[in-house]
Amino acid sequence: MTALLTATDLHKTYGATPALAGAEFAIDAGEIVAVMGPSGSGKSTLLHCLAGIVPPDSGSVRYDGRELSALSDAERSALRRADFGFVFQFGQLVPELTCAENVALPLRLAGTGRRQAERRAVEWLARLEVDDVRHQRPGQISGGQGQRVAVARALVNNPRVLFADEPTGALDSLNGERVMELLTDAARESGAAVVLVTHESRVAAYSDREIVVRDGRSRDMAGAAA
Ligand code: ADP
Repeated sequence: MTALLTATDLHKTYGATPALAGAEFAIDAGEIVAVMGPSGSGKSTLLHCLAGIVPPDSGSVRYDGRELSALSDAERSALRRADFGFVFQFGQLVPELTCAENVALPLRLAGTGRRQAERRAVEWLARLEVDDVRHQRPGQISGGQGQRVAVARALVNNPRVLFADEPTGALDSLNGERVMELLTDAARESGAAVVLVTHESRVAAYSDREIVVRDGRSRDMAGAAA
């Protein structure tokens, strides 16, 4: 079976700083893969290259049979909106919108009517066990609630790949574990693959497979090049 998303021999340098130096990656549909490694090892850069946010200096990223670098900026943006979801360390919710409006936003941008979008948003908030905050704004809720809202927003469009960059990095361990349980359950139910960047092994424990990035190079946990 061909993997859904692959990276081959990725190189990326920021000025004189090498961020990626031959990184490899592959994820199948519906798989949950943790990308581990110390701070500064290149994990976020790998995620950004895989998602088509940052162009690598060299190497290949293929998604669903397409080479990302062969697409135009507009095509890459459209692909990200339609097929990818994102959760970052700090939810990055829109502060002026209610939580339900935040979750509805990707649907609205994709052309879904307001009423249907809000109904689906509330369903997703309920799945993440935070439908009680639907009328509140991000500044009025806790960090753990905010990350659950962010997960709902990332999955509401049924993405094929969810990119999560330290999704529990700002939470205490109890809230972090609950967010990881809810995130992985929801992703498995909807069939989304998850690229999970973390430096914590207790977060990586929620994945099917772990790869380690060190000095911009990746290895899987079995020791072979990933
Ligand atoms: P990690 O996610 O593992 O902490 P990153 O991918 O963020 O690692 O960073 C890898 C290296 O690239 C680090 O040395 C970091 O300082 C550098 N780097 C990452 N992004 C940028 C950027 N936008 N500008 C300059 N340097 C960057």
